[in-house]
Amino acid sequence: MKTVEFHNCECSAKRGFTDRRAAEKALGRAQAKRDRQAQRLESRPPMNRENRVYECEFGMWHLTKQSRRSYEETAARLAA
Ligand SMILES: [Zn+2]
Repeated sequence: MKTVEFHNCECSAKRGFTDRRAAEKALGRAQAKRDRQAQRLESRPPMNRENRVYECEFGMWHLTKQSRRSYEETAARLAA
């Protein structure tokens, strides 16, 4: 089984991926893991799980819990 490589990105201490595919793969794994945990606890999936990937200003890909809307609002604010 191939391991997805990640690196510390310059934008923050959190892990970043060098390409979108790797980030999306990690996103899928994170979601599956949380869904399994939710089933075991017989509770609803948490609302704040990572739900998308984005490319930061340093050209690396990260997972984020932000909704599409809040992401676009943030991006618009940064671009202004
Ligand atoms: Zn970054």
